Amino acid sequence: LHLVVSTPTHYFTVDVEEYFQVSAFENVVSRTDWLRYPSRVEQNVEHLLKVLARYDVRATFFILGSVARRNPHVVRAIAGAGHEIASHGWSHARVTRLTPAEFRADVRRAKRTLEGVAGTPVIGYRAPSFSITRDNDWALDVLIEEGYRYDSSLVPVRRPGYGYAGGDPDAHWIGRAAGRLYELPPATLGLGRLRLPAGGGAYFRLLPSGIVRAAFHECERRGVSGTFYLHPWELDPDQPRMAVPWWTRLRHYGGLRRSDTRLDRLLQEFHFGPIADSPALQ
Ligand SMILES: [Zn+2]
Repeated sequence: LHLVVSTPTHYFTVDVEEYFQVSAFENVVSRTDWLRYPSRVEQNVEHLLKVLARYDVRATFFILGSVARRNPHVVRAIAGAGHEIASHGWSHARVTRLTPAEFRADVRRAKRTLEGVAGTPVIGYRAPSFSITRDNDWALDVLIEEGYRYDSSLVPVRRPGYGYAGGDPDAHWIGRAAGRLYELPPATLGLGRLRLPAGGGAYFRLLPSGIVRAAFHECERRGVSGTFYLHPWELDPDQPRMAVPWWTRLRHYGGLRRSDTRLDRLLQEFHFGPIADSPALQ
């Protein structure tokens, strides 16, 4: 008996960076001090790989080039477990703060380093803090010219500092002067005329868990795949605490102790795979 499964496979994605490299800390942690903080990315990734293996889920890992250079064995462990290696750029600088030439150098260096370390082609990119907006979408042309085939950076909502207002919430092809690029926005939830970010990260930890799950159920009703995202440090409640204002503390540390339980439930409820397996990219 062959069972036909009609529910789409969603995309499980991970942004691999250290707990101290996040944009929320960019005013308290200088890039030149990165080597002074204790690294936790290896143990955090190991933990996440175990969780994914328990559910037999393969995922897409958007890895910082600078993390790959410092921790090549982490990249090899991810690739060795059957996951897709993709690029989170090199320096974790927001694209909104880079010139086109700086952005090109950043994504080129990350792609080359990751491909060299993993020994696999890298075709996907996600911007730090989803920072491709309508004002800097020249970045999409640069990605195409640098050999990327898909992007997962356009959040179809208007937010301070990011967001691609009015963008298509489902995966779609984007035609640009330089060619075309498959775009996979993080999942959002439509509520009347509102569209709420609900694809992962702080929303996954801080909002009632039903909101993220409702976003993926909404995708299934439309027959489309949704994109979920998480950072390895979001499963690490014991990470060192930084001296930051209360709203940054809430956003970064809130819900860390429940994210493992929530992740278990999500992986039980939905079927996930890596973006490279998407039918559109075959
Ligand atoms: Zn990031």
